[in-house]
Amino acid sequence: MKQKIQSVKGMNDILSDQTSIWHYVENALRNVAWGYGYQEMRTPMLEKTMLFQQSIGDQTDIVEKEMYTFVDGGEEMLSLRPEATASTVRACNQHGLLHNTQQRLWYMGPMFRRERPQRGRYRQFHQFGIEAFGWVGPDIDAEIIRVGARIWKELNIQGVTLLLNTLGNQSSRDAYRNSLHQYLDRYRRGLDAESLRRLDKNRLRFLDSKVKSKQIILKDAPVLHKHLDADARAHFEGLCELLDDAGIKPVVSQKLVRGLDYYTSTVFEWVTDQLGAQSAVCAGGRYDGLVELRGGKPTPAIGFALGMERMVELFSMQSENLPPMETDVYVIQLSDAVLSDSTKLSEDLRDGGLRVVSHCGGGKMKNQMKKADQSGARIAVILGDDEKAKGVAQIKLLRNSGIQREVPLSTLVDWCKNYLG
Ligand code: ATP
Ligand code: MG
Repeated sequence: MKQKIQSVKGMNDILSDQTSIWHYVENALRNVAWGYGYQEMRTPMLEKTMLFQQSIGDQTDIVEKEMYTFVDGGEEMLSLRPEATASTVRACNQHGLLHNTQQRLWYMGPMFRRERPQRGRYRQFHQFGIEAFGWVGPDIDAEIIRVGARIWKELNIQGVTLLLNTLGNQSSRDAYRNSLHQYLDRYRRGLDAESLRRLDKNRLRFLDSKVKSKQIILKDAPVLHKHLDADARAHFEGLCELLDDAGIKPVVSQKLVRGLDYYTSTVFEWVTDQLGAQSAVCAGGRYDGLVELRGGKPTPAIGFALGMERMVELFSMQSENLPPMETDVYVIQLSDAVLSDSTKLSEDLRDGGLRVVSHCGGGKMKNQMKKADQSGARIAVILGDDEKAKGVAQIKLLRNSGIQREVPLSTLVDWCKNYLG
Protein backbone atom coordinates (compact mmCIF):
# COMPACT_ATOMS: atom_id res chain seq x y z
CA MET A 1 0.00 0.00 0.00
CA LYS A 2 1.24 3.48 -0.78
CA GLN A 3 2.22 5.64 2.17
CA LYS A 4 -0.24 8.44 2.94
CA ILE A 5 1.39 11.85 2.96
CA GLN A 6 0.51 13.92 6.01
CA SER A 7 0.39 17.69 6.29
CA VAL A 8 3.46 19.63 7.40
CA LYS A 9 3.93 19.66 11.18
CA GLY A 10 2.17 22.60 12.79
CA MET A 11 0.16 23.38 9.65
CA ASN A 12 -3.51 22.59 10.05
CA ASP A 13 -6.36 21.74 7.74
CA ILE A 14 -9.46 23.66 8.68
CA LEU A 15 -12.18 21.15 7.88
CA SER A 16 -15.68 21.87 6.68
CA ASP A 17 -17.22 21.40 10.14
CA GLN A 18 -15.06 24.31 11.32
CA THR A 19 -15.19 26.69 8.40
CA SER A 20 -18.64 28.02 9.25
CA ILE A 21 -17.27 29.22 12.60
CA TRP A 22 -14.32 30.78 10.80
CA HIS A 23 -16.67 32.54 8.38
CA TYR A 24 -18.70 33.92 11.23
CA VAL A 25 -15.61 35.22 13.03
CA GLU A 26 -14.09 36.60 9.82
CA ASN A 27 -17.31 38.43 8.97
CA ALA A 28 -17.46 39.96 12.42
CA LEU A 29 -13.85 41.18 12.05
CA ARG A 30 -14.55 42.64 8.60
CA ASN A 31 -17.65 44.38 9.88
CA VAL A 32 -15.88 45.93 12.84
CA ALA A 33 -13.03 47.18 10.62
CA TRP A 34 -15.59 48.57 8.18
CA GLY A 35 -17.46 50.30 10.99
CA TYR A 36 -14.33 52.26 11.90
CA GLY A 37 -13.57 53.22 8.28
CA TYR A 38 -10.62 50.87 7.76
CA GLN A 39 -9.90 49.48 4.29
CA GLU A 40 -8.52 46.13 3.32
CA MET A 41 -4.98 45.65 2.02
CA ARG A 42 -3.76 42.36 0.56
CA THR A 43 -0.03 41.75 0.26
CA PRO A 44 1.89 38.69 -1.00
CA MET A 45 2.74 35.84 1.33
CA LEU A 46 6.33 35.82 0.12
CA GLU A 47 8.60 38.80 0.60
CA LYS A 48 12.32 39.45 0.39
CA THR A 49 13.94 38.13 3.56
CA MET A 50 15.68 41.47 4.02
CA LEU A 51 12.34 43.18 4.59
CA PHE A 52 11.75 41.19 7.76
CA GLN A 53 15.37 41.33 8.89
CA GLN A 54 15.31 45.09 8.68
CA SER A 55 11.79 45.62 10.05
CA ILE A 56 11.17 43.05 12.75
CA GLY A 57 14.87 43.04 13.69
CA ASP A 58 17.83 40.69 13.24
CA GLN A 59 18.00 39.75 16.89
CA THR A 60 14.38 38.80 17.41
CA ASP A 61 13.20 35.22 17.83
CA ILE A 62 11.12 35.49 14.68
CA VAL A 63 13.96 36.48 12.37
CA GLU A 64 16.68 34.48 14.11
CA LYS A 65 14.96 31.14 14.11
CA GLU A 66 11.32 31.10 13.10
CA MET A 67 11.20 32.15 9.45
CA TYR A 68 10.73 29.86 6.48
CA THR A 69 13.47 31.14 4.20
CA PHE A 70 14.80 29.80 0.92
CA VAL A 71 16.86 30.89 -2.04
CA ASP A 72 14.64 31.45 -5.06
CA GLY A 73 16.15 30.29 -8.34
CA GLY A 74 19.67 30.50 -6.91
CA GLU A 75 19.35 34.25 -6.65
CA GLU A 76 17.23 35.89 -4.04
CA MET A 77 16.52 35.09 -0.39
CA LEU A 78 12.77 34.99 0.16
CA SER A 79 10.73 34.30 3.30
CA LEU A 80 7.14 33.35 3.98
CA ARG A 81 5.74 36.27 5.93
CA PRO A 82 5.81 35.72 9.71
CA GLU A 83 3.56 38.77 10.21
CA ALA A 84 2.10 41.47 7.98
CA THR A 85 3.06 44.86 9.39
CA ALA A 86 6.40 44.88 7.55
CA SER A 87 4.63 44.01 4.28
CA THR A 88 1.96 46.67 4.84
CA VAL A 89 4.61 49.32 5.39
CA ARG A 90 6.52 48.11 2.32
CA ALA A 91 3.38 48.30 0.19
CA CYS A 92 2.48 51.77 1.48
CA ASN A 93 5.95 53.05 0.65
CA GLN A 94 6.09 51.29 -2.69
CA HIS A 95 2.76 52.73 -3.87
CA GLY A 96 3.16 56.15 -2.29
CA LEU A 97 0.09 55.67 -0.10
CA LEU A 98 1.40 57.85 2.68
CA HIS A 99 2.22 60.99 0.68
CA ASN A 100 0.32 63.66 2.53
CA THR A 101 -2.39 61.19 3.39
CA GLN A 102 -3.33 59.20 6.38
CA GLN A 103 -4.42 55.59 6.07
CA ARG A 104 -6.57 53.23 8.08
CA LEU A 105 -5.93 49.70 6.80
CA TRP A 106 -6.73 46.09 7.72
CA TYR A 107 -5.58 42.68 6.54
CA MET A 108 -6.37 39.05 7.20
CA GLY A 109 -4.50 35.90 6.18
CA PRO A 110 -1.99 33.16 6.94
CA MET A 111 1.38 33.79 8.59
CA PHE A 112 4.26 31.33 9.00
CA ARG A 113 6.63 30.77 11.91
CA ARG A 114 8.67 27.67 12.63
CA GLU A 115 7.82 27.43 16.32
CA ARG A 116 7.27 24.40 18.53
CA PRO A 117 3.65 23.46 17.73
CA GLN A 118 1.29 23.23 20.70
CA ARG A 119 -2.25 24.34 21.53
CA GLY A 120 -2.69 27.87 20.19
CA ARG A 121 0.76 27.89 18.58
CA TYR A 122 1.12 26.67 15.02
CA ARG A 123 3.55 26.98 12.12
CA GLN A 124 0.90 28.26 9.78
CA PHE A 125 -1.60 30.44 11.60
CA HIS A 126 -3.87 33.33 10.68
CA GLN A 127 -3.90 36.93 11.75
CA PHE A 128 -6.37 39.73 11.37
CA GLY A 129 -4.69 43.08 11.83
CA ILE A 130 -5.27 46.80 11.53
CA GLU A 131 -2.77 49.59 10.96
CA ALA A 132 -3.25 53.37 11.13
CA PHE A 133 -0.66 55.61 9.49
CA GLY A 134 -0.23 59.33 9.99
CA TRP A 135 -1.60 60.20 13.43
CA VAL A 136 0.64 61.19 16.34
CA GLY A 137 -1.77 61.70 19.22
CA PRO A 138 -3.19 59.24 21.71
CA ASP A 139 -6.66 59.53 20.08
CA ILE A 140 -5.72 56.98 17.40
CA ASP A 141 -4.12 54.70 20.02
CA ALA A 142 -7.43 54.73 21.87
CA GLU A 143 -9.31 54.02 18.64
CA ILE A 144 -7.13 51.01 17.84
CA ILE A 145 -7.77 49.64 21.31
CA ARG A 146 -11.51 50.33 21.01
CA VAL A 147 -11.56 48.30 17.79
CA GLY A 148 -10.28 45.35 19.85
CA ALA A 149 -12.89 45.94 22.54
CA ARG A 150 -15.65 46.06 19.93
CA ILE A 151 -14.50 42.78 18.42
CA TRP A 152 -14.96 41.04 21.79
CA LYS A 153 -18.35 42.70 22.12
CA GLU A 154 -19.46 41.78 18.62
CA LEU A 155 -18.54 38.13 19.18
CA ASN A 156 -19.82 38.13 22.74
CA ILE A 157 -16.43 37.07 24.11
CA GLN A 158 -15.94 37.59 27.84
CA GLY A 159 -12.85 37.67 30.00
CA VAL A 160 -10.29 39.38 27.78
CA THR A 161 -8.06 41.85 29.64
CA LEU A 162 -6.04 44.72 28.21
CA LEU A 163 -2.38 44.92 29.28
CA LEU A 164 -0.92 48.33 28.51
CA ASN A 165 2.52 49.89 28.63
CA THR A 166 4.59 52.59 27.02
CA LEU A 167 8.17 52.17 25.87
CA GLY A 168 8.66 55.93 25.62
CA ASN A 169 10.68 57.46 22.82
CA GLN A 170 14.12 56.42 21.57
CA SER A 171 16.08 58.52 24.07
CA SER A 172 14.11 57.46 27.12
CA ARG A 173 14.38 53.86 25.99
CA ASP A 174 18.15 54.14 25.54
CA ALA A 175 18.49 55.63 29.01
CA TYR A 176 16.39 52.83 30.42
CA ARG A 177 18.35 50.17 28.55
CA ASN A 178 21.54 51.44 30.14
CA SER A 179 20.24 51.41 33.64
CA LEU A 180 18.71 47.97 33.09
CA HIS A 181 22.07 46.77 31.81
CA GLN A 182 23.91 48.05 34.86
CA TYR A 183 21.38 46.37 37.12
CA LEU A 184 21.40 43.04 35.28
CA ASP A 185 25.21 42.97 35.03
CA ARG A 186 25.29 42.09 38.69
CA TYR A 187 23.49 38.83 37.97
CA ARG A 188 25.53 37.67 34.98
CA ARG A 189 27.24 34.85 36.79
CA GLY A 190 24.00 33.10 37.59
CA LEU A 191 22.62 33.22 34.03
CA ASP A 192 22.57 30.50 31.40
CA ALA A 193 23.99 31.05 27.92
CA GLU A 194 20.61 31.83 26.32
CA SER A 195 19.78 34.46 28.94
CA LEU A 196 23.20 36.06 28.55
CA ARG A 197 22.69 36.23 24.80
CA ARG A 198 19.34 37.92 25.26
CA LEU A 199 20.80 40.27 27.80
CA ASP A 200 23.48 41.41 25.40
CA LYS A 201 21.43 41.48 22.24
CA ASN A 202 17.89 42.37 23.13
CA ARG A 203 17.85 43.63 26.66
CA LEU A 204 14.27 44.82 26.84
CA ARG A 205 13.09 41.36 25.83
CA PHE A 206 14.58 40.06 29.05
CA LEU A 207 11.75 41.80 30.83
CA ASP A 208 8.94 39.61 29.59
CA SER A 209 10.73 36.39 30.44
CA LYS A 210 8.45 33.74 31.82
CA VAL A 211 11.30 31.78 33.47
CA LYS A 212 10.96 31.89 37.26
CA SER A 213 14.64 32.49 38.06
CA LYS A 214 14.65 35.50 35.76
CA GLN A 215 11.48 36.85 37.24
CA ILE A 216 13.12 36.80 40.66
CA ILE A 217 16.09 38.73 39.31
CA LEU A 218 13.74 41.24 37.74
CA LYS A 219 11.78 41.88 40.91
CA ASP A 220 13.85 44.92 41.90
CA ALA A 221 14.93 45.93 38.41
CA PRO A 222 14.70 49.61 37.47
CA VAL A 223 11.33 50.53 35.98
CA LEU A 224 10.88 52.02 32.57
CA HIS A 225 8.32 54.64 33.49
CA LYS A 226 10.85 56.51 35.66
CA HIS A 227 12.85 57.17 32.49
CA LEU A 228 10.00 58.60 30.45
CA ASP A 229 10.31 62.16 29.22
CA ALA A 230 7.46 64.68 29.48
CA ASP A 231 6.09 64.00 25.97
CA ALA A 232 5.95 60.25 26.44
CA ARG A 233 4.33 60.68 29.82
CA ALA A 234 1.69 63.07 28.45
CA HIS A 235 0.90 60.72 25.56
CA PHE A 236 0.44 57.79 27.90
CA GLU A 237 -1.69 59.73 30.37
CA GLY A 238 -3.79 61.06 27.48
CA LEU A 239 -4.38 57.52 26.25
CA CYS A 240 -5.32 56.29 29.73
CA GLU A 241 -7.92 59.07 30.02
CA LEU A 242 -9.45 58.25 26.64
CA LEU A 243 -9.68 54.59 27.54
CA ASP A 244 -11.28 55.52 30.81
CA ASP A 245 -13.90 57.54 28.87
CA ALA A 246 -14.57 54.47 26.77
CA GLY A 247 -15.04 52.32 29.86
CA ILE A 248 -11.93 50.26 29.10
CA LYS A 249 -9.86 49.43 32.16
CA PRO A 250 -6.30 48.48 31.24
CA VAL A 251 -3.84 46.75 33.53
CA VAL A 252 -0.65 48.79 33.23
CA SER A 253 2.24 46.35 33.01
CA GLN A 254 5.73 47.81 32.86
CA LYS A 255 7.15 44.44 31.90
CA LEU A 256 5.20 44.33 28.63
CA VAL A 257 7.78 45.04 25.93
CA ARG A 258 6.71 43.00 22.84
CA GLY A 259 9.13 40.86 20.87
CA LEU A 260 9.59 42.95 17.75
CA ASP A 261 12.16 45.70 17.43
CA TYR A 262 9.96 48.22 15.66
CA TYR A 263 7.72 49.13 18.59
CA THR A 264 7.89 52.58 20.24
CA SER A 265 5.69 54.36 22.77
CA THR A 266 2.33 52.60 23.33
CA VAL A 267 2.35 48.78 23.45
CA PHE A 268 -0.52 46.53 24.46
CA GLU A 269 -1.82 42.98 24.56
CA TRP A 270 -5.30 41.56 25.00
CA VAL A 271 -4.93 38.44 27.14
CA THR A 272 -7.18 35.73 28.54
CA ASP A 273 -6.71 32.95 31.05
CA GLN A 274 -9.00 30.63 29.10
CA LEU A 275 -6.56 29.35 26.50
CA GLY A 276 -3.90 27.67 28.63
CA ALA A 277 -0.32 28.76 28.13
CA GLN A 278 -1.02 30.80 24.99
CA SER A 279 -2.72 33.72 26.65
CA ALA A 280 -2.29 36.55 24.13
CA VAL A 281 -5.16 36.88 21.67
CA CYS A 282 -4.21 40.21 20.18
CA ALA A 283 -1.12 42.37 20.43
CA GLY A 284 0.12 45.63 19.06
CA GLY A 285 1.56 49.03 19.53
CA ARG A 286 3.11 52.11 17.97
CA TYR A 287 5.91 51.85 15.46
CA ASP A 288 6.60 55.50 14.70
CA GLY A 289 10.04 54.87 13.17
CA LEU A 290 9.33 52.00 10.80
CA VAL A 291 7.98 53.81 7.73
CA GLU A 292 11.04 56.06 7.62
CA LEU A 293 13.39 53.19 8.36
CA ARG A 294 11.94 51.43 5.32
CA GLY A 295 12.57 54.38 3.05
CA GLY A 296 9.35 56.38 3.44
CA LYS A 297 8.72 59.83 4.86
CA PRO A 298 8.61 59.98 8.68
CA THR A 299 5.11 58.71 9.48
CA PRO A 300 3.71 57.83 12.89
CA ALA A 301 1.91 54.51 12.94
CA ILE A 302 0.10 52.12 15.22
CA GLY A 303 -1.61 48.76 14.80
CA PHE A 304 -2.40 45.35 16.20
CA ALA A 305 -2.46 41.74 15.07
CA LEU A 306 -5.01 39.28 16.35
CA GLY A 307 -4.37 35.52 16.40
CA MET A 308 -7.39 33.98 14.70
CA GLU A 309 -6.86 30.36 15.83
CA ARG A 310 -6.87 31.54 19.44
CA MET A 311 -9.84 33.76 18.77
CA VAL A 312 -11.86 30.99 17.08
CA GLU A 313 -11.09 28.67 20.00
CA LEU A 314 -12.21 31.29 22.50
CA PHE A 315 -15.36 32.01 20.51
CA SER A 316 -16.21 28.31 20.19
CA MET A 317 -15.73 27.79 23.92
CA GLN A 318 -18.04 30.63 24.81
CA SER A 319 -20.83 30.45 22.28
CA GLU A 320 -23.43 27.78 22.85
CA ASN A 321 -25.48 28.52 19.77
CA LEU A 322 -23.22 28.62 16.81
CA PRO A 323 -24.76 30.28 13.79
CA PRO A 324 -26.68 27.85 11.59
CA MET A 325 -25.20 27.39 8.15
CA GLU A 326 -27.64 24.73 7.00
CA THR A 327 -29.19 24.10 3.67
CA ASP A 328 -32.65 25.66 3.18
CA VAL A 329 -34.10 23.33 0.56
CA TYR A 330 -33.19 19.86 -0.75
CA VAL A 331 -34.62 19.10 -4.19
CA ILE A 332 -35.51 15.48 -4.94
CA GLN A 333 -36.22 14.22 -8.47
CA LEU A 334 -38.00 10.91 -8.87
CA SER A 335 -37.26 10.23 -12.55
CA ASP A 336 -34.86 11.26 -15.28
CA ALA A 337 -37.79 12.81 -17.17
CA VAL A 338 -38.12 15.60 -14.57
CA LEU A 339 -34.40 16.40 -14.32
CA SER A 340 -34.48 19.57 -16.39
CA ASP A 341 -37.62 20.82 -14.57
CA SER A 342 -36.12 20.18 -11.16
CA THR A 343 -32.84 21.83 -12.17
CA LYS A 344 -34.78 24.90 -13.27
CA LEU A 345 -36.72 24.86 -10.03
CA SER A 346 -33.49 24.72 -8.01
CA GLU A 347 -32.09 27.69 -9.90
CA ASP A 348 -35.34 29.63 -9.35
CA LEU A 349 -35.08 28.96 -5.63
CA ARG A 350 -31.47 30.19 -5.67
CA ASP A 351 -32.58 33.31 -7.56
CA GLY A 352 -34.90 33.79 -4.60
CA GLY A 353 -31.85 33.86 -2.30
CA LEU A 354 -32.20 30.37 -0.84
CA ARG A 355 -29.48 27.79 -0.20
CA VAL A 356 -30.46 24.78 -2.27
CA VAL A 357 -28.90 21.34 -2.64
CA SER A 358 -30.09 19.53 -5.72
CA HIS A 359 -29.95 15.73 -5.48
CA CYS A 360 -27.44 14.15 -7.85
CA GLY A 361 -26.99 10.51 -8.78
CA GLY A 362 -30.62 9.40 -8.92
CA GLY A 363 -31.77 6.53 -6.70
CA LYS A 364 -34.90 5.53 -4.80
CA MET A 365 -37.16 8.05 -3.07
CA LYS A 366 -36.21 6.61 0.32
CA ASN A 367 -32.50 7.13 -0.25
CA GLN A 368 -33.02 10.64 -1.59
CA MET A 369 -35.11 11.49 1.48
CA LYS A 370 -32.32 10.22 3.72
CA LYS A 371 -29.84 12.55 2.00
CA ALA A 372 -32.33 15.42 2.37
CA ASP A 373 -32.53 14.74 6.07
CA GLN A 374 -28.76 14.60 6.49
CA SER A 375 -28.31 17.89 4.62
CA GLY A 376 -29.96 19.76 7.48
CA ALA A 377 -32.47 21.30 5.04
CA ARG A 378 -35.79 22.40 6.50
CA ILE A 379 -37.74 21.70 3.32
CA ALA A 380 -37.59 18.83 0.82
CA VAL A 381 -39.12 19.59 -2.58
CA ILE A 382 -40.13 16.45 -4.45
CA LEU A 383 -40.73 16.33 -8.17
CA GLY A 384 -41.90 13.22 -10.07
CA ASP A 385 -43.72 12.47 -13.31
CA ASP A 386 -47.19 12.94 -11.73
CA GLU A 387 -46.23 16.27 -10.20
CA LYS A 388 -44.75 17.44 -13.48
CA ALA A 389 -47.97 16.57 -15.30
CA LYS A 390 -50.01 18.56 -12.76
CA GLY A 391 -47.60 21.54 -12.60
CA VAL A 392 -46.99 21.08 -8.87
CA ALA A 393 -44.36 19.77 -6.46
CA GLN A 394 -44.66 17.99 -3.14
CA ILE A 395 -43.25 19.84 -0.18
CA LYS A 396 -42.16 18.01 2.92
CA LEU A 397 -41.30 19.92 6.09
CA LEU A 398 -38.36 17.97 7.43
CA ARG A 399 -38.05 19.53 10.87
CA ASN A 400 -41.75 19.76 11.55
CA SER A 401 -43.32 16.34 12.02
CA GLY A 402 -42.92 15.58 8.34
CA ILE A 403 -45.98 17.51 7.10
CA GLN A 404 -46.37 17.04 3.36
CA ARG A 405 -48.47 19.03 0.89
CA GLU A 406 -48.79 19.95 -2.75
CA VAL A 407 -47.78 23.42 -3.97
CA PRO A 408 -48.11 24.78 -7.54
CA LEU A 409 -44.72 25.33 -9.21
CA SER A 410 -45.69 28.92 -10.02
CA THR A 411 -45.85 29.87 -6.31
CA LEU A 412 -43.28 27.46 -4.94
CA VAL A 413 -40.38 29.91 -4.52
CA ASP A 414 -42.56 32.35 -2.56
CA TRP A 415 -44.01 29.53 -0.50
CA CYS A 416 -40.52 28.34 0.54
CA LYS A 417 -39.32 31.88 1.24
CA ASN A 418 -42.34 32.60 3.43
CA TYR A 419 -41.97 29.39 5.34
CA LEU A 420 -38.24 29.91 5.94
CA GLY A 421 -38.86 33.51 7.04
P1 ATP B 1 3.40 34.91 21.62
O1 ATP B 1 3.93 35.66 22.78
O2 ATP B 1 2.16 34.11 21.93
O3 ATP B 1 4.46 34.14 20.89
P2 ATP B 1 3.86 37.01 19.74
O4 ATP B 1 4.31 38.13 20.59
O5 ATP B 1 4.88 36.22 19.01
O6 ATP B 1 2.91 36.02 20.59
P3 ATP B 1 2.67 38.65 17.70
O7 ATP B 1 3.80 38.50 16.77
O8 ATP B 1 2.46 39.94 18.34
O9 ATP B 1 2.71 37.48 18.77
O10 ATP B 1 1.31 38.18 16.98
C1 ATP B 1 0.04 38.64 17.38
C2 ATP B 1 -0.87 37.52 17.76
O11 ATP B 1 -0.81 36.47 16.82
C3 ATP B 1 -0.52 36.83 19.08
O12 ATP B 1 -1.03 37.56 20.16
C4 ATP B 1 -1.20 35.50 18.92
O13 ATP B 1 -2.58 35.59 19.22
C5 ATP B 1 -1.03 35.22 17.46
N1 ATP B 1 0.11 34.31 17.21
C6 ATP B 1 1.42 34.61 17.19
N2 ATP B 1 2.16 33.53 16.90
C7 ATP B 1 1.28 32.50 16.73
C8 ATP B 1 1.42 31.12 16.39
N3 ATP B 1 2.59 30.57 16.16
N4 ATP B 1 0.29 30.37 16.30
C9 ATP B 1 -0.93 30.90 16.51
N5 ATP B 1 -1.12 32.20 16.83
C10 ATP B 1 -0.03 33.01 16.93
MG1 MG C 1 5.92 34.48 19.42
